[in-house]
Amino acid sequence: MPCHIDTILVLNAGSSSLKFTLYKIQGEQRLANGVVERIASGSANMVYRRGDGPKTEKPVIARNHSDAIQLVCEALTNPETGVIKTLREIDAIGHRILHGAEIFREATLMTEETLSKVRELVPFGPLHMPANIGGIEACQTIFPGVPNVGVFDTAFHQTMPDYASHYAIPEIYYQKYGFRKYGFHGTSHHFITDAAAEFLGKPVDEVNLVTCHLGNGSSLAAIKNGKVLDTTMGLTPLAGVVMGTRSGDIDPAVVLELVRKGMTADEIDNLLNKQSGLLGVGGINSNDMRDIVEHAAAGYHGAQLALQMWAHRIVQYIGAYYTLVGGADAIVLTGGIGENSWQARDLVLSRLACLGVDYDSEANRTLRGPCYLTKPESKTKVMVLPTDEELMIARETYKVVTQGC
Ligand code: ADP
Repeated sequence: MPCHIDTILVLNAGSSSLKFTLYKIQGEQRLANGVVERIASGSANMVYRRGDGPKTEKPVIARNHSDAIQLVCEALTNPETGVIKTLREIDAIGHRILHGAEIFREATLMTEETLSKVRELVPFGPLHMPANIGGIEACQTIFPGVPNVGVFDTAFHQTMPDYASHYAIPEIYYQKYGFRKYGFHGTSHHFITDAAAEFLGKPVDEVNLVTCHLGNGSSLAAIKNGKVLDTTMGLTPLAGVVMGTRSGDIDPAVVLELVRKGMTADEIDNLLNKQSGLLGVGGINSNDMRDIVEHAAAGYHGAQLALQMWAHRIVQYIGAYYTLVGGADAIVLTGGIGENSWQARDLVLSRLACLGVDYDSEANRTLRGPCYLTKPESKTKVMVLPTDEELMIARETYKVVTQGC
């Protein structure tokens, strides 16, 4: 394994998209980033940005993820708009992988052996895992000899004890099918746990936190001494708080009743994952928090109800997790909503005085993260810390590749 690692490519292959970021790892400088969208649709599109420059966008031909990676390579090495001279400058590649089950507890070098284990996990993420694997396979061909590292969205949550991660159904279902809570957004929770420790000036293995990733998909985690004790998502990302289009927690008997009324598994899947949450309750044909806030302020009952349900469930989990970790040093907010929507944050933070949160509503309206939203004397801090999953993948990739150097 090479010990001198300078440039790392991070790839996040979704079912029909490929996000990419190229880093100079010393100094964590982002050289370029972008996305190839609508892969295999006949109307693919590529967005590319060099450093902090303007975004450019153009239609492209991308029949599959391999084509998309070729396009990324061309863009990065383009004599006019690129940032490297040749692909040989790329020292390692980090890949976001949705699911590592219990096999991958940390970022792992992809060899034939580990990749074949990843292939066995396709049933845990039939939509995303084939794309994640396809991205690694394409890189093995395009970048021969360059190490590929898998960074798993579930890995950070693997520290949950069995009494937190198991479901209270006969253990045979766990043994036979692996039914348990895995949790997701692990890379983001990991990033903001490290960032919060630094912000608080404490060693990471001494911080107790409630981390809240609030975006279109949302999850919270209880962090005890820097490790996950519990998290809101489960076997799949459907569980937990109310999300853009997902219901979050629901009495499973509702699903049984829908089956008895004749709905198929696919129809219920679509209902709970794609038609519910802010979209389903708000009734304004939008899952975007900005629209929900605007319509709630204008008096739309559905949007008001959706917003109240969203905040209620988050306050409920913050209280639960604050207790589970034995009192948190801080509550950390991130994600599109956590970082940007002061109205949504206000609904949550104004109810946390009982947890020792002395909240500064003016700071909440005006400041942008990284920042505190509590007064200096507040016993429990609240902070907004922008997440950066790509950078976390680059850091993890560097760690794996330089192990033993
Ligand atoms: P994803 O889970 O798809 O990564 P994001 O983390 O990008 O989602 O979050 C999307 C959510 O963030 C949307 O509900 C959107 O309304 C909200 N959001 C993004 N920017 C803003 C903003 N400037 N003000 C308020 N809400 C915002």
